[in-house]
Amino acid sequence: MTILVTGGAGFIGSNFIIDWLKVEDEPVVNIDSLTYAGNLDNLEVVGNDSRYCFYQYDIGDSIAIDELLLRHRPRAVIHFAAESHVDRSIADAERFIQTNIMGTVRLLESSRKYWSGLSARDSERFRFVNISTDEVFGSLTPELPAFCEDSSYQPNSPYSASKAASDHFVRAFYQTYGLPILTTNCSNNYGPYQFPEKLIPLAIVNAINNRAIPVFGDGLQVRDWLFVSDHCSAVRKILRSGRVGETYNIGDSCEKTNLEVVGTICDLLDLKRPLANHTSYRSLITHVPDRPGHDRRYALDASKLKRELEWKAEQTFEAGISKTVDWYLEDRSD
Ligand code: NAD
Repeated sequence: MTILVTGGAGFIGSNFIIDWLKVEDEPVVNIDSLTYAGNLDNLEVVGNDSRYCFYQYDIGDSIAIDELLLRHRPRAVIHFAAESHVDRSIADAERFIQTNIMGTVRLLESSRKYWSGLSARDSERFRFVNISTDEVFGSLTPELPAFCEDSSYQPNSPYSASKAASDHFVRAFYQTYGLPILTTNCSNNYGPYQFPEKLIPLAIVNAINNRAIPVFGDGLQVRDWLFVSDHCSAVRKILRSGRVGETYNIGDSCEKTNLEVVGTICDLLDLKRPLANHTSYRSLITHVPDRPGHDRRYALDASKLKRELEWKAEQTFEAGISKTVDWYLEDRSD
C-alpha cells in the first residue's frame, strides 16, 4: 500500500511525510511543484528512505497526475498543496484561484477517475483527505463560541475564499460521485520548516538577525495555535478512522494574541541567545499598518475529533514554541 501526498515540500506536508515514515511502514509518494514555499531540503532526512519518492508535478497537470496514480496505485491522497499566504493572496488573488480551486478540482477529477477504476475492495478503502483551514469560517468577535464543523463559511481574504471554494468542490465530489473524501479544518500551525513569511518564523528569524519584528496593527488579533506534529497526528488518525464524507476540525483551544506570541518568542530568545547589550528582543517589536480585511479572532472547537476518534494533542504551546525557537536557532536563521 502507498499514500500520495501533495505539497509535501511545504511546511506541513514535509512534517507530515517525516512523521509518517517514522510511525508507519507504508511508502509515500510526494508531488510538489516547488513554488517559493516548497523546499526539498525540508525532506533531507527522508531523501534516502526507499519508501519515499518525489515528483515535481503541478496538481493541475492532469496528464501527469493520471499517469502517476496508475503507476503508484495509492490507497489515499492527502492533499496539502496550496498557495497559503494571506498577504500574497491580497496582492495576487489569481494564483490562489489557479492552485487552490482549479488545481484542487483537477486533482479531484484525476482521483475520481482513478478511484472509479479500482476493484471493489480497493475502491472501498480509498480516501481523499482535503487539508483545509479554520480561516474559511471567517472572524469571531470576543464573546462568540469557537467555530464548530457546522459553522457557516464566511471567508474574508482571497486565500480563505479560495480554500472555501475548494472545500465546496471536495464536498460536491462526495455528494455527486461518491468519491470517499474527508475534509479537515485546522487552526494556525507552527513548528520546524515553516517559510519565514508567516508570523512565528518571521518573528524568530528577524529577531535573530536583529531586524524589526513587524506586528500588524495593534497586534491584538487572536489566533488558535497548534504544533505542526499534532496536526500531522490528527490527519493520520482521520485517514485511519474518520467517517467518509465528514469534516473534522483540528485544534487544541490555544488562543493567543499575535502580540503575546511575539512577546513569548522574544522572552525565549532573551534566555537562549541574550543580546550583548542586555536589552530585550522585545525592543525590536514594530507595529506596522494592519492588513486589509484582517480577521480579528479565530478559535476552533475540535471536540468532535477528540470525542469520536480519541485524538489528543501532545505539545503544549510553551513546549512547542520553545522547540520551534531552538530549531530556527540551529543555523537556520537566514
Ligand atoms: P506551504 O505554503 O508551506 O506549502 C505549500 C506547498 O504546496 C509548497 O511546497 C508548494 O510548493 C506546494 N504547491 C503550491 N502550489 C502547488 C501546485 N499547483 N502543485 C503542486 N504543489 C504546489 O503551506 P502549509 O502551511 O504547509 O499548508 C499546507 C496546507 O495546509 C494548505 O492547504 C493550507 O491551506 C493548510 N493549512 C495551513 C495552516 C497553517 O497554519 N500553515 C493551517 C491550516 C491549514
